[in-house]
Amino acid sequence: METIRLAVIPGDGIGHEVVPGALKILERLAELHGGLKFEFEHYDYGCDYYLEHGEMMPEDGLEKLKESDAVFLGAVGDVNKVPDHISLWGLLIKIRREFQQEINVRPAKVFDGVRSPLGSPKDFDLVVVRENSEGEYSSVGGRMFHEEHEIAIQSSVFSKRATSQAMEYAFNLAGSRSGMVTSATKSNGIYHAMPFWDDVFKEVSMEYPEVSTTSEHIDALSASFVTRPERYDVVVASNLFGDILSDIGAGIMGSIGIAPSANLNINGKYPSMFEPVHGSAPDIVGRGLANPVGQIWTAKMLLDHFGYEDLGGRLLKAIEDTLREGIMTPDIGGNSSTEEVTASILERL
Ligand code: ATP
Ligand code: MG
Repeated sequence: METIRLAVIPGDGIGHEVVPGALKILERLAELHGGLKFEFEHYDYGCDYYLEHGEMMPEDGLEKLKESDAVFLGAVGDVNKVPDHISLWGLLIKIRREFQQEINVRPAKVFDGVRSPLGSPKDFDLVVVRENSEGEYSSVGGRMFHEEHEIAIQSSVFSKRATSQAMEYAFNLAGSRSGMVTSATKSNGIYHAMPFWDDVFKEVSMEYPEVSTTSEHIDALSASFVTRPERYDVVVASNLFGDILSDIGAGIMGSIGIAPSANLNINGKYPSMFEPVHGSAPDIVGRGLANPVGQIWTAKMLLDHFGYEDLGGRLLKAIEDTLREGIMTPDIGGNSSTEEVTASILERL
């Protein structure tokens, strides 16, 4: 019997409405499996915690979370209570950084029955693997004066270690999907960093001869995400490019409420964190309108991460069948509640 210890942080707003259902689903799947058990440790970190204690989590918060095998998070932030920069840096970004979660994985897929801004595109089913620790989001540079004109210099930092780590993850993932990796580059415009990115991509690809590769410039790639999405399976991208591409993916899915994500620690020293892409959605709190699919799909990613792809596959099928039958929340055109969608998925397991 394997036990997976999850640190559960519902966080704020609709996090409290979508997390309990996802936990029920994980428990049910573990039961069905027979050789797996979940232990949930609940943490009330978030904006209400801040209002009471003056910090988003206690001093020893990270130490506590570190004892878990993974963090399962709902949503963090509520501008009506705490300014965003405090809530994000005090909890979410703190965990991502301290736990060295250097890779962000965001699948995107248009489910049968869900209306996408593209209509019902065939085969929109891809995963964006984003290097999440360096690249364009660096603090190297500054503002200064040059010949009396004010300028700002922003340097990107690409290390071979983090770059190849993200690429290796993408190649391994492609091995379990349709065997294709696309690299998002811009070596025709970005002089040093992107040719380096391309070199590392070539080098890493040599180790995976069974995986086919293409390399596309980010501008053209963004356009064909929309016009020819069937060409893509696993896309590996730098911090900035991955940020943009994965949001295009989420947009095409039909609602931010569907999109899942994983922040992965690869060196095994710290837990990884699984969280839906959406925020706390204060505008719909308490009305049964929250789409639970993002959180539930996030649970599927967690199962895959721990090697329970069979359970993950079963869960994805239950999500697909539920949506195909029109059981969905209003954000994607249905009239079912959070609980009804969750119950339907549970039933189909
Ligand atoms: P944050 O700063 O926490 O990211 P935000 O306001 O930028 O918050 P969201 O909280 O994700 O972003 O909300 C953006 C919009 O999407 C809101 O109108 C919200 O109601 C809607 N939304 C977000 N998540 C869901 C969901 N799970 N189901 C339905 N609608 C959602
Ligand atoms: Mg937001």
